[in-house]
Amino acid sequence: AAPLALLSSLALCAQKGILVKDGRALELMGRIDTVLFDKTGTLTRECPEVGRVITANGFAENEVLMYAAGAEQKFHHPIALAILKKSEEWGIDLPATDETQYKVGYGIDVGVNGRRIRVGSARFMEMEGIALTPEIQEALDAAHLEGYTMVMVAIGDRIGGALELQAAVRPEVKDIVAGLRARGVKHLAIISGDHEAPTRKLAEELGMDRYFAQVLPTDKADYVEKLQQEGRTVCFVGDGINDSIALKKANVSISLRGATSIATDTAHIVFLEQGLGKLCELRDISRELERNIA
Ligand code: ADP
Ligand code: MG
Repeated sequence: AAPLALLSSLALCAQKGILVKDGRALELMGRIDTVLFDKTGTLTRECPEVGRVITANGFAENEVLMYAAGAEQKFHHPIALAILKKSEEWGIDLPATDETQYKVGYGIDVGVNGRRIRVGSARFMEMEGIALTPEIQEALDAAHLEGYTMVMVAIGDRIGGALELQAAVRPEVKDIVAGLRARGVKHLAIISGDHEAPTRKLAEELGMDRYFAQVLPTDKADYVEKLQQEGRTVCFVGDGINDSIALKKANVSISLRGATSIATDTAHIVFLEQGLGKLCELRDISRELERNIA
């Protein structure tokens, strides 16, 4: 590539708060025909709201929240941020924790006040052999109808409760989707580790072509590879630990402010301002660069 054209494009990006760590990715962005978006923390805001707190097996609401917040206190995941904010609102003192195990895509396994606490998806509970009560199952189904994410809290070896998480879509996302389509990006999809129901709901709301739900980290990367084998040039946009392998595989990878450091370290390009607002401009800058090189 003509180095001068590339340098001036890089300077323009810097001016707009777009950190380009790989010039080749900037050149490629104009030729992307597929964009895969992570859901939680990428299309949705960094900190969701905790809605309903449901209890089971005789545990109290503030007990469930206390254990959940204790387990999440060292994490920066959107689910962790939401739970910690809620526990602060309720005036809960965070308990001490023992060694923490994070099962990416599932949840957390940790000792809190000498009790074993597991916080994560319904699938995680199933994997761990923790039965949901009928009330919890009912609340889970109801939340899914609304498109909410549910996080289960196991206290000892029983389900203690569940937290409903309501994540707002970032305000610029609708325009970004329309803008990408107007710029000739043919395929747009969501790829999420979250449950099918909230993922489908958001995909429909945004008019995405496809969605992939309950996807584990290595599977996110496999989807990228599969699409590439079909001849697509793929951009992956993500914020989480569970996105890092896919970010590595994609032709162009983008992360954003507030993302986990493994995501921003891996991505070719990082938006330094809040949200995804610069995505279409990035495409335009790349197109312009292509014209100047040709
Ligand atoms: P996405 O791929 O949409 O960003 P997540 O990163 O939220 O999805 O991860 C998928 C699922 O893994 C979550 O819906 C949740 O069930 C579980 N999970 C991930 N991190 C945590 C956490 N810190 N606490 C509890 N559950 C978690
Ligand atoms: Mg995410």
